[in-house]
Amino acid sequence: MPRAHSGNVVVHILGGEAPPSPPPPPPGSPPSSVASDTASATSNTASTTSDAASAAGDTGSITSSTSESSLCLLPGPPSQTPPAVPECRFCFEPALAGDPLIAPCLCSGSSKFVHDRCLRKWRLMNYGRAPFVRCMECRAAYRIRYRWPRETYRFTPAQVSQVAGNARTLFLSFTCLFAALFLRTLDKAAGYQLARGILDPYPDKTFIHLVVSDTVYAVLFYFSAIAWVMTTLLYILLPTVILPNIRHHDRYVKTAILPAIGSYVLSLHFFWLYYFCKALDPQSPEAYINLELALATVNLWTPRYLMQLHNKCVDGLNRSNYGAVLDRVVGDRIVVV
Ligand SMILES: [Zn+2]
Ligand SMILES: [Zn+2]
Repeated sequence: MPRAHSGNVVVHILGGEAPPSPPPPPPGSPPSSVASDTASATSNTASTTSDAASAAGDTGSITSSTSESSLCLLPGPPSQTPPAVPECRFCFEPALAGDPLIAPCLCSGSSKFVHDRCLRKWRLMNYGRAPFVRCMECRAAYRIRYRWPRETYRFTPAQVSQVAGNARTLFLSFTCLFAALFLRTLDKAAGYQLARGILDPYPDKTFIHLVVSDTVYAVLFYFSAIAWVMTTLLYILLPTVILPNIRHHDRYVKTAILPAIGSYVLSLHFFWLYYFCKALDPQSPEAYINLELALATVNLWTPRYLMQLHNKCVDGLNRSNYGAVLDRVVGDRIVVV
């Protein structure tokens, strides 16, 4: 897409390495990058000239002049040419107050400069993809100064599947079922202390009768108790795995603590649902056991949720820590890293 240029552009380049010729832009490049193709291609020869001068240690200035659809570099004293008016390759505007133009990559010509703010928007639009960290035209990686070290401890989809995949959760469910049968045997030998004393010091007779009976409700009650214990262990274990790998605990805890506490309070339904149902209708403990069974089964999927929640928190922290892309032109030298 040709791009109209008005006036001449004077670029002062003193020293530095030769920027490579940019390859054709890939799909998804900003429109202005595409627009600069013609100018870049036309200016290849001139760029080589300026590179040779730079390599030779030439400290003089090189004047580049742009016309309607091409860019060429013409030697000449700066005083004989208009002052440089570099434009942003995204919005075609010059440098603005509080929003300077930077040269973030190895592109030259009309693609050289971009507003700091425009580049930030483009990077955030492409967060998690290659354009967040590199120019897709010249492929040069941006030099980014992050505000603080980025979090890198993140669960991959393979890890989530390995820990909390369908097969693993099904295996966990059967483990809970066998543990429930074992727990019921223990509680029966202990005079149903779990049901009587731990859950409710003053249980309704209907509820106790349901627990001591040999119906399926008794097993389901202990299944829910085991699922709750497993969830509690998970809430203790997961932070011990994650927190040592987090770089900024304060920020992470601020981000993750509310969803984690909310999830844990929800997982305490083994207790609060009992009293809720008892308050509603103490003569129908079946309602509590049915609801508790449903929630306990959902609880078994908690690991997957917590791992995804951790990833979401880390992504949120890193997204807010997008950093500042540094200008490759430091002073009057092109810095190539
Ligand atoms: Zn701009
Ligand atoms: Zn570039």
